[in-house]
Amino acid sequence: MSHPHDDPAGAVLARARALCEDMTFAEVRAWKGANPGRLVIGHMPIYSPRPLLEALGCLPIAIHGGGDQLEIIRGDSYFQSYICHIPRSTIELAVSGRLDAFDGMLFPSICDVIRNLGGMWQMLFPEKYSAYLDLPQNFDMAVGGRFYAQELRRIAGELTARGASALDQARLRDAIRDENARRAALRALDEVRVETPWLIRASEAYVAARAGGLMLAREHTALLQELVARVKERDAQPYDNVRVVVTGSFCEQPPLDLIVALEKAGCDIVDDDFMLGLRMIEGDIDEERPSGDLLDALAAAYLERGAATASRYIGAGENGAALLQKVKDCRADGVVFAAASFCDPALLDQPMLEAALGAAGVPFTSFKFAENTGQFQVIREQAGAFSDSVKLWGAA
Ligand code: SF4
Repeated sequence: MSHPHDDPAGAVLARARALCEDMTFAEVRAWKGANPGRLVIGHMPIYSPRPLLEALGCLPIAIHGGGDQLEIIRGDSYFQSYICHIPRSTIELAVSGRLDAFDGMLFPSICDVIRNLGGMWQMLFPEKYSAYLDLPQNFDMAVGGRFYAQELRRIAGELTARGASALDQARLRDAIRDENARRAALRALDEVRVETPWLIRASEAYVAARAGGLMLAREHTALLQELVARVKERDAQPYDNVRVVVTGSFCEQPPLDLIVALEKAGCDIVDDDFMLGLRMIEGDIDEERPSGDLLDALAAAYLERGAATASRYIGAGENGAALLQKVKDCRADGVVFAAASFCDPALLDQPMLEAALGAAGVPFTSFKFAENTGQFQVIREQAGAFSDSVKLWGAA
């Protein structure tokens, strides 16, 4: 990448990166100071109903742990050594006072680790709001949809009791529109990656997407639109790379330098499940709803158009179909499985996904990481060998 001062996209990327790496959450504190009485609500990956939070006048902030920016001093003592890293760094953020400006947290039902983390948060911070968001695994609107809309109504009521605005359909419609616009901007960014990956590296798109977890949808849309316009001004040439889909990193995120290492190893990452929450709903959320209740629209979007991922039930016969479709849609040459160490959902799903790829003749490789992994040489060599073999023989 060229120097930020020469790079048309340098300034917007620098802003996004600074936001992502600020473990003091200075902008969140500034927002809180400028909006007294309004609530900052954090949420864990993968998916949280951000438009609902925005409609209630809250600032939703995605917490993806501390990455490689945070030294863990107390967080390790809360968890066993054989579980993933993100709960330790999240606890570290909280007990070190970095999340003091947060009024509450949502813990979506990804896995047992997040459930335990939610319980721990409740014990450590009894005065703060805390909700376990039980995302439905029944995809019938009359059953799972009804349950999920009730959950959303419960959370809205609890937040209103703590000072958030009351649930209002017109404000919810505006928030859904903002979210749909953000989604369209993300799709435009993804299209640039798929069609011209040399204009924007996956590591850059990742930073731009991740910044969106730390701002309102409308501001993020403006950032993404500017980025797409700026990268198109770049004078960049195609690389002699293989096109890969990276999958398995939907919760704990890999360090940015690991993504860069994959790129340096000859991979154009044309699709991935980093920051899946912002892309979880495929297509738009209905802005109108015959029932008149837009909570039903949020529920229907999750049920009917939620992305396939390990924490969402997928029938045995369909497992792997979405990944194969993704490979086809973005014309990928292969798949890289990159799961957080000890991530049960990702690692339990992986053999089924590998079987589907194997049956379809799609080459793949796999490795594990922790968000604070500091050594990338082995992964870089492995990815380099994979990309070379795909280039030479079309299979690893
Ligand atoms: S990284 Fe995996 S195991 Fe850890 S909290 Fe996230 S989904 Fe659960």
